[in-house]
Amino acid sequence: MPRIFSGIQPSGELHIGNYLGAVKNWVELQHQHQCFICIVDHHAITQPYEPDAFEQRTLDMAVGLIAAGIDPDKCVLFVQSHVAAHTELAWIFNAVTPIGYLERMTQFKDKSQHQESVLAGLLNYPVLQAADVLLYKADLVPIGEDQIQHVELMREIARKWNAKYCRDFFPEPQAKIGTAKRIRGLDGQAKMSKSLGNTVAMLDEPDEIWEHIRMAQTDPARVTRKDPGTPEKCNVYALHQHFSAPSMVDEVADKCRGAAWGCVDCKRVLADNVAQTFSPMRERAKQLQDDPKALGDTLATGAARAREVADETMAGVREHMGYLIQHAGY
Ligand code: SF4
Repeated sequence: MPRIFSGIQPSGELHIGNYLGAVKNWVELQHQHQCFICIVDHHAITQPYEPDAFEQRTLDMAVGLIAAGIDPDKCVLFVQSHVAAHTELAWIFNAVTPIGYLERMTQFKDKSQHQESVLAGLLNYPVLQAADVLLYKADLVPIGEDQIQHVELMREIARKWNAKYCRDFFPEPQAKIGTAKRIRGLDGQAKMSKSLGNTVAMLDEPDEIWEHIRMAQTDPARVTRKDPGTPEKCNVYALHQHFSAPSMVDEVADKCRGAAWGCVDCKRVLADNVAQTFSPMRERAKQLQDDPKALGDTLATGAARAREVADETMAGVREHMGYLIQHAGY
């Protein structure tokens, strides 16, 4: 089976943007691929974060992924820092990656504008991403369009290392572009993001889901209930397309255009459908949260399975690069 690597930062609970934009796709992919799903905590520390909340956010992300349908028996689900080879290979790749490549990365240019003193970790973030994927010799990397540049860099790093040390050692991974469009935030911003506070958490209780959706921005033309709207201009309608039955999506569009209902009615239906979609996942999450030892064991098993593959790759890397191989005599 083709091998896939996917990473997600430990931002705590999954929100519907994460779910629709990435995780739902991974759940489907796990049936036809060998999937490595990694909670990338080393990546998360390149931006400001709360150390006191970090562990819990990592566990919450693991709960969210499993509750969403990631099956730890089918996939290798693990935490990045539990497999030390990620940072070792990233260091090695730093030695074949021209700094100019990293400075040209669009995400670096965007994010570095928000750092007073730009950190080396932010610059080298794509090198660690390359290590994440190439450590497992993954064939495919499911990504959004904004990540294409990063996969191209991974391929470039693989070519450079292979040219210098061992031809064809690392395969060049291919980007697998998801069909899901980027999910806009409830405030109408281009991106749904926990840091922007414009999300609905997947595991929110129904009344919390309603509280968030109630505040969602709609077509500004609908000032009063009597004003007709354009559903295509409304993010609530876009979300109906993901959470409501096709007949309801048509009904939403008709009622919006004909001013046959108010935005509150429309949002109420959406909130109920979102709550219903995630109801089994909330139940599963509660079971997982009630048994932290089992969750820890699951992550430990995932890390052990990941290390088996990673260790084999690193043994080859060290050998081809001429490192002194450790054995009992040294
Ligand atoms: S009726 Fe629904 S689709 Fe139309 S603007 Fe209001 S919330 Fe949006």
